[in-house]
Amino acid sequence: MIKEDDIRVVGGREKNLKGVHVTIPKKQITVFVGVSGSGKSALVFDTIAAESQRQFNESYSSFIRNRLPHYGQPEVDAIEHLPAVIVMNQKRIGGNARSTVGTVTDIYALLRLLFSRIGTPFVGYSDVFSFNNPQGMCPDCEGLGKVKDINVDRLIDREKSLNEGAILFPTFMPGDVRWKRYVCTGLFDNDKKLKDYTDEEMDTLLHKSGFKPPNPTEGWPPTSLYEGVIPRIKRTYLYKDSRDAKRYQEAIDRIVSEKLCASCCGGRLNPRVLSCKINGKSIADCAGMQVSELIRFIRSIREPDVQTVTDEIVKRLGNLLAVGLGYLSMNRETPSLSGGESQRIKMVRQLGSSLSDLLYIFDEPSIGLHPHDVNTINRLLKQLRDKGNTVLIVEHDPDVIQIADYVVEMGPRAGTHGGEVVFQGSFHELLSSPTLTAGYLNRHLNFKREIRKPGGWLAIEHATMNNLKDISVRIPAGVMTAVTGVAGSGKSTLIRQVLPRYYPEAIFIDQGAIHASNRSNLATYTDIFDTIRTLFAKENRVNSSLFSFNSEGACPHCKGLGIISTDLAFMDTVSSICEACEGKRYTEQVLSYRFRGKSISDVLAMTVEDALNMFHEKEIETPLKRLKEVGLGYLTLGQPLSTLSGGELQRAKLAAELEGEGNLYVLDEPTTGLHMSDVELLIGLMNRLVERGSTLIVIEHNLQVIRQADWMIDLGPGAGEEGGQVMFEGIPKDSIDCSASITGRYLGL
Ligand code: ADP
Ligand code: ADP
Ligand code: ZN
Ligand code: ZN
Repeated sequence: MIKEDDIRVVGGREKNLKGVHVTIPKKQITVFVGVSGSGKSALVFDTIAAESQRQFNESYSSFIRNRLPHYGQPEVDAIEHLPAVIVMNQKRIGGNARSTVGTVTDIYALLRLLFSRIGTPFVGYSDVFSFNNPQGMCPDCEGLGKVKDINVDRLIDREKSLNEGAILFPTFMPGDVRWKRYVCTGLFDNDKKLKDYTDEEMDTLLHKSGFKPPNPTEGWPPTSLYEGVIPRIKRTYLYKDSRDAKRYQEAIDRIVSEKLCASCCGGRLNPRVLSCKINGKSIADCAGMQVSELIRFIRSIREPDVQTVTDEIVKRLGNLLAVGLGYLSMNRETPSLSGGESQRIKMVRQLGSSLSDLLYIFDEPSIGLHPHDVNTINRLLKQLRDKGNTVLIVEHDPDVIQIADYVVEMGPRAGTHGGEVVFQGSFHELLSSPTLTAGYLNRHLNFKREIRKPGGWLAIEHATMNNLKDISVRIPAGVMTAVTGVAGSGKSTLIRQVLPRYYPEAIFIDQGAIHASNRSNLATYTDIFDTIRTLFAKENRVNSSLFSFNSEGACPHCKGLGIISTDLAFMDTVSSICEACEGKRYTEQVLSYRFRGKSISDVLAMTVEDALNMFHEKEIETPLKRLKEVGLGYLTLGQPLSTLSGGELQRAKLAAELEGEGNLYVLDEPTTGLHMSDVELLIGLMNRLVERGSTLIVIEHNLQVIRQADWMIDLGPGAGEEGGQVMFEGIPKDSIDCSASITGRYLGL
C-alpha cells in the first residue's frame, strides 16, 4: 500500500534509535505506541518535528545560520516528503495574568467587537473593552481583577510580644533596624503579647502612619515619622520591583495573598466600560460565564447587524465544548491551565484554520480526559485528517489507538533495549501481531481481588473551593484511593488545593521536571555519586572533590557539562559535544585515576545493571537495586535528568520515595506517558508504597489503575458548575451498579 508521496524516515539515530526506517502515509492518522523509553519521542519529536523545524529555520538569514555549525540537525540519513509540521504538545501555554482563555482563543476580541457594535450605552471602539488597555482597565487593579493583600494572620504571631519576634518577616526580627522602628517608639509595651493588645494598639502597630511618636525611647531617629507594619511592607516590598522585593520574594509570597479587586469585583474593567451591556450583561459578565452558558447567551442575541460576529463566537465556543473544555470561562487565566487543557486550547486554535497539507503531531491528546471525553477528541482528530492533513499521535490509550489508520510500534523495550520499529501496519493487523501492545489490547482487565482494610480515615469537610458543592469526603488511610470524574469535575481542586490545607504533609509526585541543575544526573539524584567519588579518592590518594563536575578536576572548556550550549535569543538552545574532553567532562589527569580498572567517566557511562556488577557497597547497591526494580536498569548513571522521558523521571522519583519516610502520597495522572505494560509496573510500585504503610491517593482516568484501587471517590456529574459533587464513594467494583457514576459505567464495559 506504499504510496509515492509517503513520508519516509531513513536511518534515524536520535537518542536510542537504531537506524530506524519507517514509512508514514499522508492524510491519515498514524499512532505511535510502545513502552515508555522505547523511542517514540525520539522518532516523532526529536527527528520528524525537529527536521521540519530545522528546514523552517533554514529560511533565516545566513548571518544566523553561519553561527550554527550543527544547527539542531537530527541524527538521520534522510526524511522524504516532509510537510510543514505543527506540534501540539503538553507544554503549558503559560503567559501571565493578562493572558486568559478568552484572549488566547481570540473569543474575547470577538466579544469586544460585539459590545462595541450593539452594547448600550455606546462607550467607544472595541479596544476600550480590553482590560489590557489603559482606557478600559480598572484603575485600581490595572486590569488584573485582583489586588495583592497582606494576610495579617501570616504576618504576625499573636502568641508573641515584639521582643519575642511577633512580626514574622525577615527584616522585622528582634535586633533588625526595622524592628527598632517599633520597639523604640514608646507606643507599645514591648513585652506584651500581641493577643493582649487593645484594638487601638493593634491598629497603630499595623496600620497607622505619618505622625511623630510623642514619647520615643533611645534609638528612635528624632525627625522620623511613624509608619505601621503593613504600609511599610507594602511600600518597600509590594509596590516596587526593588532588589529587596526580589531578595525577600519567598517571605513576601508567604504573607501576601490575592483578593478580588473591590472596585471592579474581578471584572478587570472600569465602571464606564462595565456599564455597557447587551441584554443586561456586561462584557465582564460574559467573560465570567462558562462556555456552555456563554453559548446560550450569544445565541439569544438576535441582531441581524452582528450575525457574522455572533456566528463566529458560537462556532469557536462550540470547538471548546467539543474538546471537553465547556467548563472553562473566558476569564480563566492561562497559567492556571493544566498541560492537557493547554493542548486542547491549542487544538481549538488550529480548528479555526482552513489550512490543509500540514503535518499535525500530538503528544498524548487523551491526557486529563475521562474515557467519556475521549470520543470528542477522536472526532476532532479525524476532522483534521479529513481536511487533508496528516496526523501523528503518540498515545497509550486504547480508545485513541483504535482510531488509527496506521500504527507504528517502537520497542521491543526501553532505552538500549528499544529504539527499533517492531510493527507497522493497520490497527487490525496490530491486533493479530505478537507485539507487547497487541498483547495488552487483547487482554481483559480485572478488578482487584482482595481489597485492603483501611487503618482509619482522613476527612475533608464542607469543601466549597472553585466548583465544589460543599462536599465532605472520607479518604481511607493506609490503602490506595482513586479520585475520578470527567475533566473539570473538581478532582484537582479537591486533592491539589483543598487536601493540603488539612494535610500539609502530603507529598505530591508528578512527572514535572526535577528542579535540578544541568549537571544533575541519575548518580547525583540518587546520592550515590558522593560515595563513588570517595571510593575513587581513597583508591588514588587524592581529594574527592577532584571528581566533582564543578571543581578544578572538571574539563575547563565545558565546565564539567560534557556539552557546549549556545543560547540564541529567539531560537532553541543548540548543544554540541565538548571537543576538548569529547564529552567525558573531566581533565586528562582526573581521567587517569582508576577504580577497579575504570575511570570516573567510564563509571558514568555504565548502565545501572552494569554498575550493580561492579559496586557492592551498600550505599551504592541499594539505590541502584531500587532503580532496577522500577524498570530503569538500562539507564546510564551519567544520563542527565533532563533527557529522561516523562515516565522514566516519574519512576526515578518513585524509586527515591520508596526510601523515603512519607505517609501520604498524591499522584496526579501517574499513567501519563506510560504504556499499558508500564502501568502494570507502576501499579506494582504503588502497591509497595501502600504495603509500607503509606496512604496513597491517585487522580486517574486510566481504568486499569482505577480497577486496582481499594477505594474510589467519583466526582461529577459534569464539569465546572455542573460538577463538584460526590457521585460515588466506595469500592471501585460497586460503582458499576451506581447509575449516577459515569466512571462506573466505563468500569463495567
Ligand atoms: P518514549 O517517548 O518512547 O517514552 P524517548 O524517545 O523519550 O522515549 O526516549 C527513548 C530513550 O532514549 C529513553 O530510554 C531515554 O532515556 C533515552 N535517551 C535520552 N537521551 C539519550 C541520549 N542522548 N542518548 C541515548 N539515549 C538517550
Ligand atoms: P479536574 O481536576 O476534575 O479536571 P478542576 O478541579 O481542575 O477539575 O476544575 C474544577 C472547576 O474549577 C472547573 O470549573 C475549573 O475551571 C475550576 N478551576 C480549577 N482551577 C481553577 C483556578 N486556579 N482558578 C479558577 N478556577 C479554577
Ligand atoms: Zn479592579
Ligand atoms: Zn569538556
